[in-house]
Amino acid sequence: MRILFVLLCCHLTAGASVAREPEPGKGSRPGVFLITIDTLRADHVHCYGYEQIRTPALDLLAAQGIRFTQAFTPSPITNSSHTSIMTGLLPSSHGVSDFGVPLAAKYPTLAELLSKGGYTTAAFIGSVILDSKNLAPGLDRGFEFYDNFPEVTTAKSRWGRLERRGMEVEERAESWLNAHSAGSHFVWLHFYDPHDPYEPPPPYSEIYKDRLYDGEIAYADSALGHFLAYLKKQGWYEGAVIVVVGDHGEGLGEHHEDTHGIFLYDSTTHVPLIVKLPNEREAGRTVEAQVRTTDIMPTILSLLGIAAPANLDGDSLEPFLAGVQAAPRTVFGETEYPLRFGWAPLRSIRNEGLKFIEAPKPELYDLRADPGESHNHYEPWDGTVQKLRKSLAELSAKSPARGKTSPAAVSPNTIDELHALGYLGSADAGSATDVPEPSLLPDPKDKIEQQNLLHTATMASEEGETEKARAALEKVLQLDESSALALRQLGRMEMASGNYGKAAGYLRRAHAVNPNDATGALEYARALELSGDLPGARDVLLASLKLNPDQFEARLALGQVYLGFNDSNAAEEQFEAAVLLQPGNSEAQIHLAKTLIRRKMFTEAVELLEAVAEPSNRNPEIFELLSQAYAGLGRRQDAQRAHLRAKTMQESKQPQ
Ligand SMILES: [Zn+2]
Repeated sequence: MRILFVLLCCHLTAGASVAREPEPGKGSRPGVFLITIDTLRADHVHCYGYEQIRTPALDLLAAQGIRFTQAFTPSPITNSSHTSIMTGLLPSSHGVSDFGVPLAAKYPTLAELLSKGGYTTAAFIGSVILDSKNLAPGLDRGFEFYDNFPEVTTAKSRWGRLERRGMEVEERAESWLNAHSAGSHFVWLHFYDPHDPYEPPPPYSEIYKDRLYDGEIAYADSALGHFLAYLKKQGWYEGAVIVVVGDHGEGLGEHHEDTHGIFLYDSTTHVPLIVKLPNEREAGRTVEAQVRTTDIMPTILSLLGIAAPANLDGDSLEPFLAGVQAAPRTVFGETEYPLRFGWAPLRSIRNEGLKFIEAPKPELYDLRADPGESHNHYEPWDGTVQKLRKSLAELSAKSPARGKTSPAAVSPNTIDELHALGYLGSADAGSATDVPEPSLLPDPKDKIEQQNLLHTATMASEEGETEKARAALEKVLQLDESSALALRQLGRMEMASGNYGKAAGYLRRAHAVNPNDATGALEYARALELSGDLPGARDVLLASLKLNPDQFEARLALGQVYLGFNDSNAAEEQFEAAVLLQPGNSEAQIHLAKTLIRRKMFTEAVELLEAVAEPSNRNPEIFELLSQAYAGLGRRQDAQRAHLRAKTMQESKQPQ
């Protein structure tokens, strides 16, 4: 034993210094390339023992680097898991527990620290889910260039609008690097391909036609291969630190979970992690000890000799890189995504061959005897359970306030993007999340079948397969006739098809389940209005506004309902309230101006419109209304001038 210890110590000294050489000085620091592959299960990669796939690029990196066989993400959701990789913090520490939640400036990111250390930094993302303009605010911090998606796109297909294929991400990274070749680089590439829907391009769609998920992985691997070849061509590969990691896995039906996000089983938390050091040091080593993706940031920093921030949840993996038998790391898991469905969030701890999952129905697994986590050994009085539960409670106690995300954090456009990617936003959960104690919410284990069906429906309706979506949603209603999520989705589909009466039927049922939910009330009222039931729409909106008077959309909707009644007076009141709530909103201004003109209150209309008709205002409708208001006052020249202005704007807006 002692001899082994001495040998290990020698190895540590040799290894640790080896990893840092050459001593980093200005301009001579190794390049750092981080590649995250979305939705990548460790056990679907060839060098992780999966014989049914070819992943030559990952295999090559493993042969020339260090492969961690037991690496885990703390979160099965893309944004949270990537933020953990970039900050070395657990989701409950960095606070990004949902889509669209900004990463607070007080948590330094890897890019920020490397940028301060003199690195040229850039990020290339494969999905709008990581766009820093809306769904991942703050994740771009420290990147000189962050390759967001275009703000406006006319593309109907998902490519370019929601996703970029791996090769496009790779090519964009290459061309940026070609234009910024000087200095040391920290570049992050995100390959989204293995995320569902599984649609690999040829030839992978053919080779893997019966296992399309594998086809996406093989394709992402080919994009990685292109990038590694590019690094070699540039002469950057040898000296670089290259880290490849999965952000989370995929359920593939295990534990009845089709995709990811709800559960914390190994199927969605066990990911591949490979680290290639400069000059292929320690090539071919495998590390069997349990480690975490929160360890990546401190590892890169320590390899570069840059000080890590205090109080990280992760720790440098340098001892493992050098072959030292250091203690395995305790893995914590967290998911709040079940809240989007009105179900309980989950927490887990994975340690010493055991996993404990805190849930309304808690679970304990002996991973050595039962790696598939299929036999729950939970007994509340069990000493092991008590110990693990205590560790989880201690972690919760020191985490900053969690789960306090405002539905307003995600804009309506962003909600559409989320739905198109197959996710729900916080507003979708309605008032189900108002339950003060999450453990009183249903256990996701009892609801997973519904989640699969809801996911199928969301993806199907995004692809225009209305019948498939409808069938899945009707199945949810068979399982739970008061599923507000299914009722609302059915209502929206009927609305989109113009079946307003039918839509109102579904939305009435959803509204009855969550009468306090403002979004549900608004949707129900719109369906009633469009199906001709104006009194019904009015009553629903009035009731909702009584609960929360500060609802801009509801004020606008109620104003329109009143116009339908020919009650301009009442309409004006609502539009005025809307303008007060959002003074700069041109939709509200236009509605109010129209109502004033209709009531022949031209002076008031001119007053309102002149206040907003600044030179910077490019909305022709404002000037057209202003022209009408002037005309009402007999100011013909002003009316003509405003009309001309509107016309010029309209013409310049016409597509060339
Ligand atoms: Zn992901």
